[in-house]
Amino acid sequence: NPQIVWLRRDLRMKDQPALHAAAEAGPVVPVYVLDDDRPKQSGSDRCFGGAHRWWLHHSLESLGKSFGARNGSIVLRRGDSVSVLASIADEIGAEAVHANRHYEPWWREAEEELKDALPDGCELVLHDGNYLMPPGTATTGSGDPYKIYTPFSKAMLDLFPPRDELPEPDTISQPSDMPDSDDLSDWDLLPTKPDWAAGFREFWKVGEDAAHDRLEWWADEVAAYDESRNLPSKDETSQMSPHLHWGEISPVTIWHRLKDKRSGGWKTYEKELIWRDYAQNIIMQFPKYPDQSYRDYDEQVLWRHPNRGHLIQEELEAWQQGRTGYPIVDAGMRQLWKTGWMHNRVRMIAASFLIKHLLIDWRHGERWYWDCLVDGDYASNGTNWQWVAGTGVDSNMFPRIMAPLSQSEKFDAADYIRQYVPELSDLSDEDIHDPPEGKRPDDYPEKIIGHKEARERALQAYRDSKGE
Ligand code: FAD
Repeated sequence: NPQIVWLRRDLRMKDQPALHAAAEAGPVVPVYVLDDDRPKQSGSDRCFGGAHRWWLHHSLESLGKSFGARNGSIVLRRGDSVSVLASIADEIGAEAVHANRHYEPWWREAEEELKDALPDGCELVLHDGNYLMPPGTATTGSGDPYKIYTPFSKAMLDLFPPRDELPEPDTISQPSDMPDSDDLSDWDLLPTKPDWAAGFREFWKVGEDAAHDRLEWWADEVAAYDESRNLPSKDETSQMSPHLHWGEISPVTIWHRLKDKRSGGWKTYEKELIWRDYAQNIIMQFPKYPDQSYRDYDEQVLWRHPNRGHLIQEELEAWQQGRTGYPIVDAGMRQLWKTGWMHNRVRMIAASFLIKHLLIDWRHGERWYWDCLVDGDYASNGTNWQWVAGTGVDSNMFPRIMAPLSQSEKFDAADYIRQYVPELSDLSDEDIHDPPEGKRPDDYPEKIIGHKEARERALQAYRDSKGE
């Protein structure tokens, strides 16, 4: 009997547990539902950002071609995921809907609703496919999931190896009478006017094959990761994040491909992959994590609220547009706008700048990254913003205020700045991190606030918010 595969952020054929199980059980009907309202129904205003939509279009196109090459196809529908799947299951007499588990609260709710909505004789079968280990596997001595990264990471390493990789189905059989599908181009996921995606097209190759090509390139590079991962001028991180976010490749596949590398670089990289699992463990325990602080600061005192004063709104916009007068921050924010991605070191510097130098509530920054990143991920983004802000359930980082100018020098960001802030490109390596009076070009803004002043203001606001 027909088996539906409910595709979400698992847009691949290889090591795809839901697809694998479905293909073993009968003819497969893969369905992707574009469901803009689902997060809202769960009380979270989290539609896809423009960068998400751009990536999704190309990823679905690529997966459609992979099915096409096996004489198959994907069914694309728009609407409420639960009703669409239940109605297709009814129409084709499906025996099961197979899906890989996702931990965003709206997907967990949809999974629960779907169990009840499916016609008699059709069951929802959930699989674990997108993480090194299913969230909740690593637990403390008392059996609870971890809240802090370091012990979580140690526990994960003790539990490794992750599961074996699953082979890609040799053949995919599909029912002769497939349900109707929308045309991808009718979904208008790509920008028209203005076409802001030129930089995206230049920077990215999307889809499962591109993810595997990138992995092969990375297998030769990973040994140097330890030394070079903090240098934004170099192309020396894996740039796997959007492929992982959309499930074009599984972390289990990456782990098995690299595990024999035995270099310090691989050991560090493995821990970064564990950060990704950690973030899922956090939203599994705290579903509203990306929207809610967990420490008892008085946040009314801590943050300068953007909506209370015109000036602060202007500061938020200056940060978003890369016009803060701090070259490393501006380069990062412009890289984000141009390519939908930002180097990790610079993500930290730019986030710290918004939170501490400008004292703007971290949630405004989290939202901006969410809207602009091709890898914008509910769990990873929320966990990292809370980590920088020191407002979450892990360590308190608020008093650790990053100095953007010395970070820029220390991590040798001169060429990176030249690439994304061209008005500074004539400055020397020495001057470019903090253009001196007289050398700061007229079309480059003055610093929005001095570092020392910002640091003192942030620490004072922090003490005030704790009533000290
Ligand atoms: P690599 O350095 O090659 O790392 C390999 C993989 O490990 C990444 O692809 C990613 O999947 C995972 N990873 C690495 N670091 C982290 C981390 N700190 N937390 C979780 N996973 C990690 N990552 C996202 O995938 N989506 C986000 O929305 C996101 N938002 C962030 C917001 C802030 C404020 C910060 C500081 C970090 C954020 N990150 C996010 C984590 C990290 O910056 C990116 O995963 C990384 O820059 C992606 O580039 P890469 O693939 O080259 O990473």
